[in-house]
Amino acid sequence: SVVIGIPASAEHETRSPIVGDVVKKLAGLGARVLVQRGATDTAFATPESLGDVEWADSTADVIAGSDIVWTIGNLSDADAAALRPGQVLMGLLTPYASAEHANALAATGATTFALELLPRISRAQSMDILSSQGSASGYQCVLIAAARAPKFFPMLTYAAGTIRPSRVLVIGAGVAGLQAIATAKRLGAMVQGYDVRPETREQVESLGAKFVDTGVHAAGEGGYARELTAEEVDQQRAALAKAVADADVLITTAAVPGRKAPVIVTRAMVEAMKPGSVVVDMAAEGGGNVEGTAAGKEVKVGGARVVGPVNLPGRMPVHTSEMFAKNLLSFTTPMIADGRLSIDWGDEVIAGTALTHDGRVVHAGVAKVLG
Ligand code: NAD
Repeated sequence: SVVIGIPASAEHETRSPIVGDVVKKLAGLGARVLVQRGATDTAFATPESLGDVEWADSTADVIAGSDIVWTIGNLSDADAAALRPGQVLMGLLTPYASAEHANALAATGATTFALELLPRISRAQSMDILSSQGSASGYQCVLIAAARAPKFFPMLTYAAGTIRPSRVLVIGAGVAGLQAIATAKRLGAMVQGYDVRPETREQVESLGAKFVDTGVHAAGEGGYARELTAEEVDQQRAALAKAVADADVLITTAAVPGRKAPVIVTRAMVEAMKPGSVVVDMAAEGGGNVEGTAAGKEVKVGGARVVGPVNLPGRMPVHTSEMFAKNLLSFTTPMIADGRLSIDWGDEVIAGTALTHDGRVVHAGVAKVLG
């Protein structure tokens, strides 16, 4: 029967893509699970909670003993080099990281699926790792901001008066941004949202937030945004300046696939914010939406604290591991027939997620970006 291998995650990673429920579902498909000892400790999943799995002592043993390897974050180069033709690797593979990285995976001859590339179509929603993890990120951004804000989020009436609610502005209203808006609303803040894709207005408003219209519309391919022209960037900054200055909390989540994060908020715009304002730049790892952001750090810009958090889903590994494992189960299920691995290349979801196959980088979008 097919063996699903779960190597330990990289050192800084708390999530692990397996939970007991998913082990049971895999058994139902005729698949077995081979887990590296200790791999799930940081996600608080005990060996007992996983149920009927087999154990290996090293990543090399997991790779050698499995047909399909599930990973959160990258395997080390040395471990990845041990993949073999006919074997499948799937998970978050940072496909756009560099040509060397993609070519090294291709050179193993293994078939690799980078779930970052999953087509965003309805049928693929249950497999959508970017969505499940993005929603955790948006939620965490608001908690980070609320914990640092020198103000209440909600309106509060007390014996001597009334406290006005905080103003939260969320720039980028994709999966993470919408979850940030919903979370800030639940905490009672006055929330505004902004995005370049026109359809986001209705989504922002349906959460009870106000939409900031800059007049810049930039829908791209596959439901994503496109990069803005220099004129559009200027127009956007001019239109957003007042909303940023009025906000107590600014959360930015804007991204364009395969590109550096767009710089939307300048240093001058942050300097115009009130003392004690908090900025959480979720795009920090990709360069940042805010000028002056540093990934993994908190810096002072004018009177504002600018936080550039990294690996936000890793802050809540119990739920994000569960979501990740269920997403991978949904992606893997159609590939297992009668306990055997069989890949239907006619399926647009499968073909569209493939990064490498038969020794080549097969994803056209990645090949184009990496050149
Ligand atoms: P993302 O992480 O790539 O980007 C985050 C947001 O930043 C996007 O909403 C984008 O429009 C916005 N953005 C980019 N440049 C910007 C700029 N200069 N200024 C302001 N905002 C900017 O996107 P995502 O959250 O992964 O989702 C992207 C799309 O995929 C959305 O349309 C979402 O609804 C869709 N989606 C579809 C499915 C599905 O049907 N299976 C699942 C999830 C998401």
